[in-house]
Formats: sequence, structure tokens, C-alpha cells
Amino acid sequence: MTEKLIDPFARPISYLRVSVTDRCDFRCVYCMSENMTFLPKKELLTLEELDRLCTAFVDMGVEKLRITGGEPLVRREIMTFFRAMTRHLDSGALRELTLTTNGSQLERYAQDLWDAGVRRINISLDTLDEAKFSDITRWGRLAQVLKGIDAAQAVGMRVKINVVALKGFNEDELLPITEWCAERDMDVTWIEVMPMGDIGNENRLDQYWPLKDLRARLAEHYTLTDLPESTGGPARYVRLEETGQKIGFITPLTHNFCESCNRVRLTCTGELFMCLGQEDNADLRAALRNHPEDNAPLEDAIRAAILRKPKGHDFDYSRQRLDGQMTRHMSHTGG
Ligand code: SAM
Ligand code: SF4
Repeated sequence: MTEKLIDPFARPISYLRVSVTDRCDFRCVYCMSENMTFLPKKELLTLEELDRLCTAFVDMGVEKLRITGGEPLVRREIMTFFRAMTRHLDSGALRELTLTTNGSQLERYAQDLWDAGVRRINISLDTLDEAKFSDITRWGRLAQVLKGIDAAQAVGMRVKINVVALKGFNEDELLPITEWCAERDMDVTWIEVMPMGDIGNENRLDQYWPLKDLRARLAEHYTLTDLPESTGGPARYVRLEETGQKIGFITPLTHNFCESCNRVRLTCTGELFMCLGQEDNADLRAALRNHPEDNAPLEDAIRAAILRKPKGHDFDYSRQRLDGQMTRHMSHTGG
């Protein structure tokens, strides 16, 4: 192994999130506009390039790889990539290979993912109501996602449900979602809606449901025990004593997690974002494509990028305006 990646604030970079496509079979209202223009294929990293890049990161100390998108499972031949990453699990260099998915293709791929070494999976689901599900995802069908969740659990995967907390949309489902997940032995993570992409007519401040409020409501019905664990990310966890479930709260708009940030994000075009809340990024595709046989320029580019990782981000809703608002879509960096 080559020297590990450490950023200027002495944070080891051990977690890489990789968006493998900007495409998706859903059009969630907080994530994409209805008419998205997707990237031409030549802009995308090939599966071989993704392999080379991820392997370079693993060689430099990345132990956890999360595949995301767009919807990762709509990328053609994506299982070839997952199967290729299995060698890093087998060698012990990679501790975890996982993905975040909308679940629509899981019925088809759950077994293949398990065989490739995926043991835990995050599935995004904002409502258990069919009509609301169609509204929020525009193109999605709840039944298909539920089948996907069944398939993942049937092969033995541990499933965590990700829910975007939306005022006036799923506030009334706080308890039903919690109970439904408890029955199926699934943990839940609530995500505060982030100011991403072009907001257009939808004013996300109206949809903003602070997780502090959500947590207080949960505490009216359950006994919450704070869990000390930190994953180096923006999530805080509690255990519900009555169900044993772990509930996560992702509040990306607060700064409370930047000190322990251990992650970077790679887009499907090979841009490396050192911070979810900053525009600065490094083009790793050029290093890949200009030097197909030599990894040294790629490693140099990665190290140079990590040296630019900022201390923290600039999101701020506190004055009721969208300071630090990002113009890129979530599907670009994969959340
Ligand atoms: N398509 C996959 C999925 O939906 O799980 C992976 C990509 S998606 C961009 C990753 C996560 O980001 C999902 O859990 C989604 O709900 C969340 N997300 C998307 N836009 C968001 C926003 N504006 N604020 C907060 N979370 C968002
Ligand atoms: Fe697609 Fe995921 Fe974005 Fe929804 S949140 S549009 S499923 S990428």
C-alpha cells in the first residue's frame, strides 16, 4: 500500500462515495427537475476507469466505498464493477462495499450484490403511501421498491431506510414509518432537505422540517438513548429502547460534523469533491485518460486534491436565506 491520504486538518480520508451515473429512473422533486439533460456517454468514466480510480483510493487507505448516483443500479453492466471491487474485500484492504439506491432494481440485483460482497444497503423511501410516493418521485412506483426491499432482506442484507424529512409531506408518517421499519428490523435515517440544484418554483424553505423537531416528536412516543458512535459523517444516532432500532439524523446544514469528516465524493465524470458544501473540485479524469498505463499522475492528482480539502462548508438556513446554496444537483455528487 502507498502512503495514506491525510488532509491538511489531519483527517484521514478513509471513505469514498462514488456516483456511477447521473441518470435515474425516478425524478424526486427535491433532487431532479422533470426534464433533466443527462451527460453524453463519453463524459462518463467507463467501468474500467471507475475501477482504476477506486483501486487507487483503496491503495491509499480508503476502506469504505459507497456507490451512488443518480440511481447506481440503472447504469449498464454495473454488476461488472461491483464484482471487480470484490477483490479489494477479499484482500482485506476494503472493509465495506455498499450502495445507496432507490430500490427500484433490487428485486433483480439483490443476489448479485450479495455475491459481490455487499452486506448492508441504504434504500431511500420517503413515504409508505402509494399516491404520495408517485408525487414525490414523479416516476416511481412504491410496489416495485417494496419488492426490492423484500429481495434485499431475503438474501440476508441489512437494510437501512433513508427518508428525506419534508414538512407537510411526511410529517404525519413519522410513527408509521418508524413502526413499519421496526417490524422489519430496519434502521431509519432521516435527512434534512438540502438546498441543492436549481430551486425553480419549489421553495425548499417551505419543505424544510428541522430534525430537532422530528426528534422531539419521536421522544414523545419512544425512549431515546443517544449513541456515541460517529461515522465521520453528518449523522447522529439514537436507539429507540422500545424497538431496539437505530435512528439516524443527518443534518448537513449544520457544521457539527465537519471536524471529523473522513470522506470525499467522486462524480461519474471523475470530478473529486472534497466537501459536499463547496464548489471546489479536482478533475481526475484527465489524469486517468492522459496516462492510461501509469498511475503515478493519478495518485499525484488525488493527493493534490486532498490537500485542498476545506475545513468545513457554508450552508446556512439560519437567516432564512439560502447562504452557501449549491447550484449543482444532488444526483451529480450522489448525496
Ligand atoms: N438514487 C439513489 C437514492 O435515491 O437513494 C442514490 C442517489 S440519491 C441523490 C442519494 C440520497 O440523497 C437519497 O437518499 C436522496 O433522498 C437524497 N437526496 C436527494 N436530494 C436531496 C436533497 N435536496 N436534500 C436531502 N437529501 C437529498
Ligand atoms: Fe433518483 Fe435518488 Fe435523485 Fe430520487 S433521490 S431522483 S431516486 S437520484
